[in-house]
Amino acid sequence: MNRTESLLRQNCYVDGCWIDSSDGKTIAVTNPSTGETIGTVPALTREDVSATIAAAEKAGRAWAARSAKERGLVLRRWFDLCMQNQEELARILTAEQGKPLAEARAEIAYGSAFIEWFSEEAKRIDGDVIPAATSDRRILVLKQPVGVVAAITPWNFPNAMITRKAAAALAAGCTIVVKPASATPFSALALAELGARAGLPKGALNVVTGAASVVGNELTDNPTVRKLSFTGSTEVGKLLLERCAKTVKKVSMELGGNAPFIVFDDADLDKAVAGVLASKFRNTGQTCVCANRVFVQDGVYDDFAQRLKREVEAMRVGDGFEEGVTLGPLIDDQAVAKVNEHIENAVNGGAKVLAGGKLHERGGNFVEPTILTEVATDALLMREETFGPVAPLIRFNTEEEVVAHANDTPFGLASYIYTRDLSRSWRVSEALEFGIVGLNEGIISSEVAPFGGVKESGMGREGSKYGIEEYVEFKYVCVGL
Ligand code: ADP
Repeated sequence: MNRTESLLRQNCYVDGCWIDSSDGKTIAVTNPSTGETIGTVPALTREDVSATIAAAEKAGRAWAARSAKERGLVLRRWFDLCMQNQEELARILTAEQGKPLAEARAEIAYGSAFIEWFSEEAKRIDGDVIPAATSDRRILVLKQPVGVVAAITPWNFPNAMITRKAAAALAAGCTIVVKPASATPFSALALAELGARAGLPKGALNVVTGAASVVGNELTDNPTVRKLSFTGSTEVGKLLLERCAKTVKKVSMELGGNAPFIVFDDADLDKAVAGVLASKFRNTGQTCVCANRVFVQDGVYDDFAQRLKREVEAMRVGDGFEEGVTLGPLIDDQAVAKVNEHIENAVNGGAKVLAGGKLHERGGNFVEPTILTEVATDALLMREETFGPVAPLIRFNTEEEVVAHANDTPFGLASYIYTRDLSRSWRVSEALEFGIVGLNEGIISSEVAPFGGVKESGMGREGSKYGIEEYVEFKYVCVGL
């Protein structure tokens, strides 16, 4: 990881200072491609986190009092600096997360786009004047910042999962304490460094690292934190919701998915294959919008499977820094074990391996990109998010049948449909119980669109004009004349 010296920070960023843990403890961060230690970050104590929250509260008064235009300008400078440092941020990201460098560069552009978007939205947090029921009153609605925000973020998008929360919160006039995943803290700390250079005042954006149970518990229990925005597993999301209930915090939850990807007989198969490659294998299958169940209609099933096999077998597995690599490692050995378990369970239930199916010969956290055919609908990988490069193909006959299967999950984040029939496009888009539908499109994330799920995939939306509403409270002022 050369050329990263100026942005690689091994301390937490709190109230404008780079700090260690008050008890001196640290956590080592490793490169998932090589197992080598990249560096360490502090394991903060609860008291350290509590002091951070107090600093964020103090900073919040002045930050909220600035004009929306001023806040927007600081965010704009942060965006510019992120893009000027795209290469260095991408190299830090690949070193700690493993994804191919080209994907890391794309994540920096995508993550930065949220900062750009919310730098513009800051000026558009309009209130309302509502016609009153009687002529002797005027009714106003003010939108005010919720206050101190805590963000707990995952390792699969170490940059973008922070910017979509932090930029929205800061634009709204909130201050924020971010706890990145311990596997990928350096992307978060680099963002803090650039935020400081952009002119974010001390205490506005803080990054705290450490054990989830220590740092996370203080963030959820401290009454000064008025909002928690979490991206991660449904299991952890439920725990956090319970803890936040004690102080009745506002919450946004971006949780797990179990995305159906439906290919109808009338689909453009080239597009559908490209869609599966993008939505299933990007980030080695470790995204919450990854196609998890690929349903293919009987008439095109065999043709589709063969086309997909050709593409999957052409993928190059390796260290994200190697030229031409398209599939990096999984994040750790537990992730490898889960992928293996899902493949074995499906094969024991009658599935056939069409491509891959094994650990990769490179060892470590590398697995082969895999296609399984004739997967039974009760296989484990139909019910749980695999979070790995395994595409299970399920044969179906009718639209009615496939919609019922697609919806037969407690999750409801992303879904994908491939068809050229206009009426079916509408019917199925409306029938799917998911927050997002990709219609003949495998890449659905964008800063201008509302991202979020229904059912156990969470609540709240990120990005778009709706994203900012997660960070404001509506205050109704009733004026008597
Ligand atoms: P994933 O491993 O899929 O990213 P997790 O939900 O395990 O999902 O982790 C997402 C984030 O939540 C990480 O920052 C992790 O450290 C944090 N986290 C995990 N468990 C807890 C917990 N009990 N309390 C607070 N934060 C947690």
